[in-house]
Amino acid sequence: MSILISGASIAGLAAAQRLSARGAEVTVVERAPGLRRNGAPIDVRGEALDVAADMGIRDTLAAHETGAAQRSAFTHIVDENGEKVGALPTELPQDSADDLEIFRNDLIDILHGSVGPDVTFVYGDSIQELTDTGEAVEVGFTSGRAGRYELVVGADGIHSHTRRLVFGPEERYRRHLGVYYGILSLPAELDVDGEAYLYSVPGRSVILSGYGERTNGGFTFLSPEITYDYHDIEQQRQLVFDAYSSVRGWKVAEMLDALKQSEDFYLDSTSQVHMDRWSRGRVVLLGDAAFAPSFYSGQGTPLAMIGADVLATEWATCDGDLDLAFARYEEAMRPRVHRAQKGVPEARDRVNPPTWEAIEARNQQWPPVR
Ligand SMILES: Cc1cc2nc3c(=O)[nH]c(=O)nc-3n(C[C@H](O)[C@H](O)[C@H](O)COP(=O)(O)OP(=O)(O)OC[C@H]3O[C@@H](n4cnc5c(N)ncnc54)[C@H](O)[C@@H]3O)c2cc1C
Repeated sequence: MSILISGASIAGLAAAQRLSARGAEVTVVERAPGLRRNGAPIDVRGEALDVAADMGIRDTLAAHETGAAQRSAFTHIVDENGEKVGALPTELPQDSADDLEIFRNDLIDILHGSVGPDVTFVYGDSIQELTDTGEAVEVGFTSGRAGRYELVVGADGIHSHTRRLVFGPEERYRRHLGVYYGILSLPAELDVDGEAYLYSVPGRSVILSGYGERTNGGFTFLSPEITYDYHDIEQQRQLVFDAYSSVRGWKVAEMLDALKQSEDFYLDSTSQVHMDRWSRGRVVLLGDAAFAPSFYSGQGTPLAMIGADVLATEWATCDGDLDLAFARYEEAMRPRVHRAQKGVPEARDRVNPPTWEAIEARNQQWPPVR
């Protein structure tokens, strides 16, 4: 069976590996000119570690651990002078001692490296239109190419184009949780001794996390939905400059300077995706496109990997009955997605108190650890 996957990130790469290992002829189309290797470290946890073991990459992932396990299990909250005024527990309830934190670029490279040579990657292209004839899906690409596939997997993220084409407008499914977050790598001068720090003013928080040689920074800001071009990095940089125009204190000025130069800046809305169904005919959605739990859940990557594995297993055992495969995929994944999505508002509110009073109340609830 020939399968087209849209998106070469966590969900798309994991699906390519899992489906091709079970005999599918896979093509992956990615809109960007190459793999998108930026982003902060992310966790591979729980059942996703078993999936990694089945994919033969668990030991490689472990060898690329960020070393964050050695740091204290708290994010220190600091005031404008860098004094510790609180400490948020970093661990999530689902964590186990085996969980791995890994730089997103390493995870992307390792997943990509696990995909066999028989998978075809097409970069700088995207599905423009698709028609499900019942027998197959006829696909027209923006490059002008055309293809015919027996199955299309939309693994193209929270702003999924596949979802838009098959299920309708993004507003129906994506729920903006009121916060934007931007992530970037920072220069060595902003080293924070391998620890993680958070500095908040009303509605805005910056985060610095140290990993030996590397430091990662994050800017968050409360805002209703903003209309901007998801592909225009300069416009996204400006959103942070605007949100932080009157914010100073602690290392904010240095972080804003670093943002001007940053080559790996990534910004998005903190969103969840909620859908009544994840497939229609021969098109199925996977990962954030179908069930984004949001940045604050820490579960987007594990769910994408587990979903890829479940989908591939059900596809391989459905004897050509795709409706059955998709029904089983949803049945297996929905409880996991529900668990991941439900704890998010609390995590979001801890990081982004809207007023000085709320900041003070949070800091009192989570006193400093020195
Ligand atoms: C560059 C980047 C950086 C990220 N950094 C972080 C981070 O620091 N922390 C965090 O928690 N999460 C981050 N995420 C999100 C995280 O990867 C996902 O939440 C999670 O891993 C689920 O992955 P996914 O593959 O479903 O979606 P995503 O990782 O969002 O991947 C979607 C992929 O589809 C591609 N795509 C989009 N539109 C099209 C199209 N029309 N045609 C073809 N391809 C398309 C995108 O370029 C991307 O490669 C980041 C995502 C990206 C793309």
